[in-house]
Amino acid sequence: MDNCIFCKIAEGEIPSNTIYEDEDFRVILDISPANIGHCLVIPKKHFKDITEIDSEILSKGIKIAQKTAKAQKKALNADGVNILQNNGESAGQTVNHFHIHVIPRFKGDDVVIEFNSKEHSNEEFAEIKEKIAKELQ
Ligand code: AMP
Ligand code: ZN
Repeated sequence: MDNCIFCKIAEGEIPSNTIYEDEDFRVILDISPANIGHCLVIPKKHFKDITEIDSEILSKGIKIAQKTAKAQKKALNADGVNILQNNGESAGQTVNHFHIHVIPRFKGDDVVIEFNSKEHSNEEFAEIKEKIAKELQ
C-alpha cells in the first residue's frame, strides 16, 4: 500500500533494526520502545488490523511473536513479556498496518500497561454475553 510506513519497513525500503525476517514477516525493534528490546512483528503484506488480516498469516505471526518472546527472555534475561496488539484509533493504533508488540518485562520495571475496570450488573453481563455470542455463531 502506498504511503504506509510499515509496508516500506517490512519490504526493506526503509531501514530498521531487523531481528528476524522471512518471506511473510519482519520483526524489528520499536523506534520508541516501552522497554529495552521492545519488538514489533510486522507482516509484509498490508492488512489494516486484526479484523482484516488473513487468518493463516495471523497464525504465523503469533507463532513468530512466541519465538520472539522466548528469544527476549533468553537474550535479555526478561522475567516476563507483554503481547499487545492495537486495532483502531480508539484502541491506540497509530500505524494502520497490523502489527504485534512483544515487550520484555523485568521485575520492578517502570512500564505501565493498565486499564480501569468497569462495573456491570448481572443483567448487563447476560445481555452483552448474548449479543457477542450471537455474532460468534
Ligand atoms: P501502535 O500504536 O500499536 O500502532 O504502535 C505503533 C508502534 O510503531 C509504536 O510503538 C511506534 O513507536 C512504532 N513505530 C512507528 N514508526 C516506527 C519506525 N519507523 N520504526 C520502528 N517503530 C516505529
Ligand atoms: Zn502497510
